[in-house]
Amino acid sequence: MYSAGDVRVEQRADPTIIEPTDAIVRLVATCICGSDLWPYRGLEPADHQVMGHEYVGIIEEIGADVKNIKVGDFVVGSFVISDNTCEICRSGYQSKCVNAAFVSVAIGTQSDKARIPYADGTLVPTPGQPDEDLIPSLLAASDVLGTGWFAAVAAEAGPGKTVAVVGDGAVGLMAVLAAKQLGADRIIAMSRHPDRQQLALFYGATDIVVERGDEGVAKIKELTNGLGAHSVIEAVGTQESTMQAIRATRPGGHMGFVGVSHDVAIPGPELFFSEIHLLGGPAPVRRFLPDLIELIWDRKIDPGRVFDLTLPLEKAAAGYAAMDERRATKVLLRL
Ligand SMILES: [Zn+2]
Repeated sequence: MYSAGDVRVEQRADPTIIEPTDAIVRLVATCICGSDLWPYRGLEPADHQVMGHEYVGIIEEIGADVKNIKVGDFVVGSFVISDNTCEICRSGYQSKCVNAAFVSVAIGTQSDKARIPYADGTLVPTPGQPDEDLIPSLLAASDVLGTGWFAAVAAEAGPGKTVAVVGDGAVGLMAVLAAKQLGADRIIAMSRHPDRQQLALFYGATDIVVERGDEGVAKIKELTNGLGAHSVIEAVGTQESTMQAIRATRPGGHMGFVGVSHDVAIPGPELFFSEIHLLGGPAPVRRFLPDLIELIWDRKIDPGRVFDLTLPLEKAAAGYAAMDERRATKVLLRL
């Protein structure tokens, strides 16, 4: 991304092994994230920035210390590099690994090849070479599915719970899928886009709420005997969506927030008196990858439907424009 709104695909030098824990992945598919739209729209700086942090592909080369994956393996990687051995990783928070690095900043996987550091800790091989139709779903696991899943876990979605999801982008839709898989009784998707409402219903939403802000909160309370939802997922990251999520959570309830926060300020007294559990941040996708790959491999979930436009990598700029103009929810880029 040369600057806001200016995405170009250009030839760069092939990556090579630098550290013995590196692997070189030949990408099979990558995609554009909702978070890539922040710099695209000029709301985050962009100056000749490599782009992309979601990826699946085939191992082309490994460093001398890589033990768990071999050349030829098909792998899914997290959008954060992690060693998966430090204390933070072992506690399940690989996105805050002591050796963490964001793939978007350090590597950029909207490309045909990528050098992945800490390959053993970051990449998970699939049981074999996937069927073509599984590739979008495996790619979704790299970020949006893993992030939506973490949000649902953080919000303690499960049996007996009413879950409300703020945000109908890819992550919000994946959170609906996760809440359903985790056994939630009722899943309220907050969306005003008919096509996304349909996808939310496909993934397990039981109710759709079109109102936003305080009106949206009032609607959630109306649907929950005036109490608010047990579990609320925030998947946008704005001031309005964050306050909507906090206010829609019942006392003692849990809010999982995974929308990248932009200019959000929570008033202290409101936070204090809300009496809710809060957990969020960049999702530790690596924690969930083995289980998510198994669910996809066994065709128990179909997260790949979240991609509604596929383009060759060379057409990446058109993909950004389509997402920016909301002509697409999520764009898959094929190599
Ligand atoms: Zn670690």
